[in-house]
Amino acid sequence: MSINIVPQEQLAEQNDKTSIISKIPLLFYPNPKTLYQHRAKRMAFLAKDSPFTDYLNFCAKIVLEQAKLIENSPIKCDLTNTVASAAQQKVAPLSISHYPVDTQWIDYLSPIMDAVVNINSEIDQTIEALAQNTVQQLTDKANLLRNGQFEQVNNNEALFIWSAMSVYYSQLAHHLPGKAVAQMGEHRWLCPVCQSSPVASIVHLGSHVGLRYLHCSLCESEWYVPRSKCTNCDNMENITYYSLDDALSAVKTECCDHCHSYLKVFNQERDPHLDIIADDINSLVLDMETEQEKFAKSGVNPLLLST
Ligand SMILES: [Zn+2]
Ligand SMILES: [Zn+2]
Repeated sequence: MSINIVPQEQLAEQNDKTSIISKIPLLFYPNPKTLYQHRAKRMAFLAKDSPFTDYLNFCAKIVLEQAKLIENSPIKCDLTNTVASAAQQKVAPLSISHYPVDTQWIDYLSPIMDAVVNINSEIDQTIEALAQNTVQQLTDKANLLRNGQFEQVNNNEALFIWSAMSVYYSQLAHHLPGKAVAQMGEHRWLCPVCQSSPVASIVHLGSHVGLRYLHCSLCESEWYVPRSKCTNCDNMENITYYSLDDALSAVKTECCDHCHSYLKVFNQERDPHLDIIADDINSLVLDMETEQEKFAKSGVNPLLLST
């Protein structure tokens, strides 16, 4: 099963072709207005009692600025043609091949960097270096990151570039006019909106209780993926779960014996207030313990690019 996005007017035609899976909400576009505010609050809350207090407080400043930018400098866009042509070509509408990186995200970079000046000299040096970059240099780095070539960009710079891009792409995703449909096809575990890697997966509360979704590291969309299945290779056998305290923990690592990768699963039924990026940082000790068992993380946390 793969998830594709089609324009609204094609939905009736698609519904005839889809199976029972279409009864499940397949994709949630982000709501950037509430998402960053909630994340900043969650980080401040977790920072009060965490092994990573300083880092959570640093990230909270970035996220608070992201929330302000959404409020004060929103983008205007009409993506009707983008969705229509992507559906025709059967590609993700905001994938780098279909929607090349432009320069609008760069407007968000300086305010985000300004939010964390004078914290320490390493961060200040990164900010000074990035401020010297030309638009072309910044675009080149953005393209490398969008292509998953993280090792080609200085880690500290990547954190700021990705944070600025995320403000831009989450708004694009929010404005996408298309609906998601499930179609038979190759197994794809990258974001059906922008083709980025997930941060982790989350088991939802509310009307979607018990369903599991992957959360995009760039555009913040969430897409459906069945539980008890490796999100990296589709394997359903010998999946092992680790947690730090007890079996009912709100965060576990889901480890695959087949491809030796793992991804965290956050469960809102256990903690309704969790935020996938904030709680991922707060549970880094679980990553260390899982990696000692020889599993490699398959997810990307945009605020951990510099660690
Ligand atoms: Zn995405
Ligand atoms: Zn696997």
